[in-house]
Amino acid sequence: MIRAEGPITVERYMTLCNDHYYASRDPLGAAGDFTTAPEISQMFGEMIGAALADCWLRAGAPAGAVYVELGPGRGTLAGDALRVLAKAGLRPPVHFVETSPVLRGEQHARMPDARWHQSVDDLPQAPLLLIANEFFDALPVRQWIGDDEQRVAVENGALRFTLDGPIREDSPTREAAAKAIAAHLARHGGIALLIDYGHARSSDGDTLQAVRGHAFADVLANPGEQDLTAHVDFEALAKAADGVAATPVVAQGEWLERLGIAARTLALKANHPEREDEIAAERRRLCDPREMGELFKVMAFHSRAWPQPAGFAI
Ligand code: SAH
Repeated sequence: MIRAEGPITVERYMTLCNDHYYASRDPLGAAGDFTTAPEISQMFGEMIGAALADCWLRAGAPAGAVYVELGPGRGTLAGDALRVLAKAGLRPPVHFVETSPVLRGEQHARMPDARWHQSVDDLPQAPLLLIANEFFDALPVRQWIGDDEQRVAVENGALRFTLDGPIREDSPTREAAAKAIAAHLARHGGIALLIDYGHARSSDGDTLQAVRGHAFADVLANPGEQDLTAHVDFEALAKAADGVAATPVVAQGEWLERLGIAARTLALKANHPEREDEIAAERRRLCDPREMGELFKVMAFHSRAWPQPAGFAI
């Protein structure tokens, strides 16, 4: 395409690469390219389920609420969260926004009754309990050097960037997704928990990265065969959230501790004494600032009639 039509933007490159990447494999876990929080420990999805249940109850247990996940991976988080929601008396219909046929297959094996959608715009007209974990980071960014947009060209048979210099990123695709979620919440009520690696305040810099086989790789190497992501600018998402409240951004470790992961760790260890060390290690991976605890952030949107979910203010 580049040879025929000329250099393409980073945004287009990232879109084309990730479309092929996710459509052609299950990238998660030890045998894949990267491991996500729900694949590390059941406690991650359980704490999310508890936060959703608590907020739903405080909202007055509104009828008709649905569980929604954007980019649900293997469906592991949904399984863990829905188990906790059921204990709180809520068995909501499950709606997944997922474009990858391979991952839809994995999700179907675990959640046969779910409904699948291509985009947030197709979600049912109902109050949402929505989760997006490591979804926004896979949506494409644009890169700018001054007022010029960075592009990918072909030179001597290899891909290369067209420009050199200090980079600024933005993402109309992510902002459009945040807007669509917010519009839905404003109209039908509910909450959205957005969890991703990124920063609370907009800042300059090149954060585009490629991961393959659990190691960083050259972003222009093996297009479509490695995971391309960029840091999520939570400030930009909050600005896009018209008509709903956006919470402060909290580090994942802090948020899980505030929700009570310490108590859940103890209970799980008591039930599985043979896995004590493993369970302690899982909590560390999720919460320790040197592991996922600080780099990953959490932010929630909530409709005006719903309370702020737990863990964002003390
Ligand atoms: N949330 C899961 C998986 C994260 S990987 C977990 O935490 O384990 C990113 C997920 O988003 C995958 O399920 C991928 O197929 C999906 N995805 C990527 N781009 C998408 C898009 N444009 N629309 C819908 N889903 C997308």
